[in-house]
Amino acid sequence: MICVPLVSGSRQELERDLREAARVADVVEFRLDYLGGARPRELLALSPLPAIFTCRRGSDGGRWQGRESDRLALLQEAVDAGAAYVDVEVDAAAGLRRRPATMTIISSHNFEETPEDVEEVYARVARLQPDVVKVVTTARDILDNLRLFRLLKHAVLPTIAFAMGERGLVSRVLTRKFGGYLTFAALRRGAESAPGQPTAEELHSLYHYREITAQTAVFGVIGNPIGHSLSPHIHNAALRQAGLDAVYLPFLVDDVVKFVRGFAAVPVTGYSVTLPHKVAVMQALDEVEPTAREIGAVNTVVRRDGRLLGSNTDCTAAVGALLGALGGRVGDRSPLAGKSVVLLGAGGAARALAFGLRREGAGLTILNRTAAKAEELARPLGVEWGGLERLGESRCDVLINTTSVGMFPRVDESIVPRAALRPGMVVFEAVYNPMKTRLLRDAEAAGCLTVSGVDWFVEQAALQFEAWTDRPAPRGLMRDIVVRTLTEREAERSRTAGSRTSGAT
Ligand code: NAP
Repeated sequence: MICVPLVSGSRQELERDLREAARVADVVEFRLDYLGGARPRELLALSPLPAIFTCRRGSDGGRWQGRESDRLALLQEAVDAGAAYVDVEVDAAAGLRRRPATMTIISSHNFEETPEDVEEVYARVARLQPDVVKVVTTARDILDNLRLFRLLKHAVLPTIAFAMGERGLVSRVLTRKFGGYLTFAALRRGAESAPGQPTAEELHSLYHYREITAQTAVFGVIGNPIGHSLSPHIHNAALRQAGLDAVYLPFLVDDVVKFVRGFAAVPVTGYSVTLPHKVAVMQALDEVEPTAREIGAVNTVVRRDGRLLGSNTDCTAAVGALLGALGGRVGDRSPLAGKSVVLLGAGGAARALAFGLRREGAGLTILNRTAAKAEELARPLGVEWGGLERLGESRCDVLINTTSVGMFPRVDESIVPRAALRPGMVVFEAVYNPMKTRLLRDAEAAGCLTVSGVDWFVEQAALQFEAWTDRPAPRGLMRDIVVRTLTEREAERSRTAGSRTSGAT
């Protein structure tokens, strides 16, 4: 079940929220500590859904400032009015007269951590014989989620258990897989009643929460930060379109080796790996495919027969996007063979591309702000290198930007002077946020053939999907999702910038 906490004050807002809740949730929670002065009996009459009545003290993360006896009297009023549920804290439970028509949730909250003895906490609550046990902790590390999954697996009573905070999001979504009684979701951004709460919209349209079962396969992206990753959008949609019983989550990870080993207990079927973990993840794998080993980075992990295999789709995808723009291979001949390619940057993206370009027989020059890093990448490949000032010095058929220059928020910057762009040149941009960078705009104006970072991003995700599922990836859908999500984000940014400007005048 999905429960939406109601925290808006006025009657009008409450009625609006109740209508919305009826569309997206199974239960509402009236947070009496937010709804100053509202009487449980009146709230009950307004609600189209079964309701939980809760009134949290400051020490439990709530806003109740009044006397404890008044708080308990309010909760008792909810019980006496026949509410479906009342939620009372473990230390206050004895103060409530229970009635058969109302299920009593007895809860324990920990805002600091997920203690090692969380089973003890569970047992303490369960001894009071609630109808539903609620144990909520805070995830300081992503591995803390595992303790809550174990709790749910061994639960003797109906149980709500999850961890708060961004590192706990997976416990809120996967609670259904492990038999959790319900999860909480905000009606909209800004209406969260606890840290890390997803919106009901995200639970439905991103994670397809109601379809998660004990059998649902788990996939996800490992990174830090991870909150704005496009991967959950693209992969959840693709897995769904393929009719697979699977969910794809963002994993905010600090120590990738410990995480991958620990989450073998879930288990997770496939990972995307992003910054800063593409190199370190290799230590946690049973096997690394030769190209990924050569590049020195893994962005894809698949579990096969209990073994974790790492590969790198960044390289194949970037070269594939370029080949596509150049008309593809003719027989065995690559259109990149013999071309002068200038690669700007010497970070992870450049590394993936440099190996692929070399294999295609391109004449490669690597230029980077820190020339020593360009040298470090170029030397083993036997290609040219230099500082960025060398851009424009020699012939260039294909120009590739893998530096982060031009990326949001510095969207008006480009590392390439307009004079260096000539008609017919191919310009490939790694940055995909924004979709059309200043470099791509300049290149189009100069009559160059352009390839955007979106093409690369979609292709690396499509190859990941194929590695995990052995099915052709729905590339059209994946591209539509990326474009739609980025367009929405760009519109949101200009709205925010617009409102900031109008507020200032
Ligand atoms: P990275 O390893 O951190 O490397 C960053 C590169 O950018 C380095 O070469 C760095 O030069 C250079 N750089 C940063 N700021 C600069 C500045 N102000 N002036 C000149 N050079 C600057 O990052 P990465 O993983 O390679 O990613 C780079 C970009 O590619 C990001 O925008 C990322 O989103 C994008 N990318 C896209 C895809 C895709 O699928 N489309 C895939 C991978 C990456 P120094 O060495 O001198 O610091």
